[in-house]
Amino acid sequence: MKHLFRKILFNFLIITVLCIILIALLIIFSDKILCFYADKFFLSKDYKSACTIYEFITEYKPQNEQYKNKLTNCLLKMPLSYYVQEKLLEIAQKDDNSQAEKLATKKILTYRKYFYKKFGPNYLKDALYNGSVLRWSKKSFPLPYFIKSNPNVPVYYVQITKSAFNDWQRETDNFVAFTPVNSESLAKIIVNFNGDAAKFNSDYKKEYQAAITTPVIKNGKILKKMNINVLTKNHLNQFFTPIQIKTLMTHEIGHALGFWGHTKDNTSVMYYSLNNSYNYYSKRIDTPLNSMDISTIKILYSLAPDISDNKDDLIIKDKFIYPAFLLNPINNAKNKILIQIIQNIKEHPQDIGYALSLADLYNKNGMYKESNEIMMFITKQISDPELLNMIYYNIANNYIGQKDFNQALLNAQKALYYSNIPDNQSLIAYIKYCKGDLINAEKEFIRILKDNPGYTNAALGLCDVYITQKKYLKARKILKQLIKYNPQALENNERTVYKFLLLF
Ligand SMILES: [Zn+2]
Repeated sequence: MKHLFRKILFNFLIITVLCIILIALLIIFSDKILCFYADKFFLSKDYKSACTIYEFITEYKPQNEQYKNKLTNCLLKMPLSYYVQEKLLEIAQKDDNSQAEKLATKKILTYRKYFYKKFGPNYLKDALYNGSVLRWSKKSFPLPYFIKSNPNVPVYYVQITKSAFNDWQRETDNFVAFTPVNSESLAKIIVNFNGDAAKFNSDYKKEYQAAITTPVIKNGKILKKMNINVLTKNHLNQFFTPIQIKTLMTHEIGHALGFWGHTKDNTSVMYYSLNNSYNYYSKRIDTPLNSMDISTIKILYSLAPDISDNKDDLIIKDKFIYPAFLLNPINNAKNKILIQIIQNIKEHPQDIGYALSLADLYNKNGMYKESNEIMMFITKQISDPELLNMIYYNIANNYIGQKDFNQALLNAQKALYYSNIPDNQSLIAYIKYCKGDLINAEKEFIRILKDNPGYTNAALGLCDVYITQKKYLKARKILKQLIKYNPQALENNERTVYKFLLLF
C-alpha cells in the first residue's frame, strides 16, 4: 500500500514537472507560435485576423522589429478604415526609425496629398470644435429648422434667412439639406431674432456680436439642437440691410452645420464676421459661399464625429476618416523641435531666423498653410530684397503643395520682382505647367534654357511638358542636352521616366 502511494506520488510529481516545463515552453515561444498562425492568415489573405494577432504580439514584444513590420505590412494590405488609420498613425508617431515607421509615414503622407487633391483648398483646422468634430449625422438631413416669428423685425429677415438655408443646399449640390418646420420642438436648428444690441451682448458677455450660435449637447456627446440668436438691429440701432442679413445668416448656418472657428480669409463666409471686434467687421465683405466653404463642409462630414445627434455615427466609425490621420503631426521628434523653435521665437522675437526655421519645419511636415502664415508675417517686417525673394519663392512652393496654383503664381511673380533669376523664372513656368498652360510653360522654359543651357529645373520642366504632350523624342532630346552640360543632373532624381527615356 505504502509502495503504491509512493508510486502515485512520484508519477504525479513527474507529470506536474512536465506540465510546468510545457507551460514555460509555451509561454517562451508563444509569440512565435502566434506569429506562425498570423502568417498563415496573412498568406490566406485573411488580413483582419492576421492583424489582430500581429497587434497582440507587437504589444507583447514591442522591441521586436519583425513583428512591427509584419503588422504594418498587414495594415497596408487592408482597406484604409478608421481602425487602420488609427494604427498606422500610432506606428508613424513612434519615431523609432524602424522600417514600419517609415512605411506608415509614407502611407499617411500619400493619403494626405491625395486628400488635398480631391477636396482642394480648405480651412478644416479652423472648423473644429476645440479640436473635436461636432456635426450632424448625414442621416439627419434634411435638417428641420424653425424661425421664431418676431413682429419687430422687417419681413425680409425671415425670407432671407430661408434663402440662406437654400443657398447652402444649392451650392453644395444637396450635400447638406434643410427643411422648414412649423414647430420649435420638431426643429434641430432654431433661429431667433431676439433683441437689442446692448441687452444681447451683456447676456452673452461679448464686446459686440451680431449673432451667436450655441449647440445644445447632452452628456458631452449627443448634439440635440443648434440655437441661432440674432440681433434685431445693428450697433447703430438700424435694421441690418438685406445683404448684411444674408451674409450674417449664411455665416451662422455654417456654425450650425458644425464649423466652429473662423477663417482669416475675408472672401469666405466663415470670416470673423461681426464678432467681437469692429476691426474685423470693417474688413468683412458681404460674400456668398465660395469653393473653400464647400470643400470644408464636405471634409467635415467625412470625418468621424466626436459629438453628433446619431449614436451609431459615434460608435460605428469605420466608414469615416480618423481626423488625426489628416491633421496631427506625424513626427514626434519634429514636434519636439517645433516646441523648441517656438520657445526661441518667444525669447528672440526680433530674430527672424527662428521664424524661418519654423516655416521650414511646417513645410517639411506638409503643413503648407501654417508655413505660409509665418512667412507672410515675416514679409511685413523686412525690406531686404534678397530675403524677400527667398521668402516669396518658398511661399509659392507651399501654394504648389496646396494645389492653389493661382496664389502660387502670384507669389512667384513677387519673388521675380525682387530678383530676376532663372530660379524664379523657372518656378513661374512650372506653375503654368501645373495649371495646364503647356504652351506658355514650354515657351518660358525654352527661353530660360537659351541663356542657361545646363539649368536642371528648366530642362526637367520642359521635359515634363513634352512628356505630358506625349512628345517623348523631344523630351529625350532635352534630357540628353541636360546630361551633356550637367552630367550629375539626374543623380538624385527619383523619376524613373527620365531614366527610361535615356535608355534607348
Ligand atoms: Zn461666427
